[in-house]
Amino acid sequence: MNTSLMACPDLIQISPSLPFETPQIPLPNTPSASRLWMPHRVLFSPEALRESWGKQILERVQKLGLPVEELASNRLTNLRGATERETYKRAKNTLAVVNAPTGQFKLQPIPPSADFQFHLAQGCPAHCQYCYLAGSLSGPPVLRVYANLPEILDNLKHYDKPDAFTTFEASCYTDVLALEHLTGSLAETIRYFGKRPNAGLRWVSKFDAIDSLLDLPHNGKTRARFSLNAAPIASRLEGGVSSLPKRLQALRCMALPASKSGGNYPVGIVLAPIMPIENWQSHYTQLLNDAQNALDFDCDLTWELITHRFTPNSKDVLLSWYPATSLEMDESNRSEKRNKFGGVKYVYPQGRMKEMRAWFESEISARFPASKILYWT
Ligand code: SF4
Repeated sequence: MNTSLMACPDLIQISPSLPFETPQIPLPNTPSASRLWMPHRVLFSPEALRESWGKQILERVQKLGLPVEELASNRLTNLRGATERETYKRAKNTLAVVNAPTGQFKLQPIPPSADFQFHLAQGCPAHCQYCYLAGSLSGPPVLRVYANLPEILDNLKHYDKPDAFTTFEASCYTDVLALEHLTGSLAETIRYFGKRPNAGLRWVSKFDAIDSLLDLPHNGKTRARFSLNAAPIASRLEGGVSSLPKRLQALRCMALPASKSGGNYPVGIVLAPIMPIENWQSHYTQLLNDAQNALDFDCDLTWELITHRFTPNSKDVLLSWYPATSLEMDESNRSEKRNKFGGVKYVYPQGRMKEMRAWFESEISARFPASKILYWT
């Protein structure tokens, strides 16, 4: 890894005391190294080792001193432990470097977030008890990163809309920033989009190791978004991610102009999953004030507001991963929403949704009048 990259030294100022009794998030006073995930095992498929991008991943993980195993075939097997708990633990500590399957070259639309989704990896090393991946991925949650990155990027041009800007979302199946120190794939993708005249990259993260991204030639084509939540939700339900103050600091550094050693990226805040916990207005007021404090300068900022929802399948998977969770998933408190294939998800009742939506839109507009709310869901 390049260790001579610039780091953004511009720290968030401690905000004035707030008119609420909720404890203020302690913001960092000095920069500190990001906590980086290190897998216990790194598996390489034979075809991944033949890819030039696979070889540079191998070099990175060897430099980090991680134990590497070459698989006999391109199939991942023997991922299960004796119990669900053991399977989960083993999978979350395993990184597999493989080629993206051919099915992933047929891109799917992903409204309202972007025009299309594509994937640099699958799986996430964190342990959020509401994780949306529980409903979208199957099998043990082993982390797969893709060695055929040049092919993945080259495929994107086939999906450009004629005469219109096309957006591509890279965060549907993973947290790309969480794995960046092991792959460099996000930086390469940002460079790729920096050269594309009419296409943009979008990614979102709960991590903060952004130093290697700050001086990339992104040309404003990448929107770097950070996922934030009210402090009680983050502390109770998120595990293995960067703290809220660190995410806010990373957001600030990505948005700051280059003259202040920032990345000068368009940025975004994804509030997800929004939950009407006790005193939710106070807790989210605290978060919005901290975000205002972190972005106390002009920048290109968008918001995405996503309320908590679950499906019967995601509930089952999450309860098997986190049997003692305090996450509220009581169907009797929710409304059913059906998709066109008949699948059901449980969302907050309409009255509650309306109340929360009005509150968030008004509070965000008051603090960030130049920003844009992309959607509420
Ligand atoms: S950071 Fe995102 S993808 Fe990773 S466990 Fe948490 S919710 Fe899931």
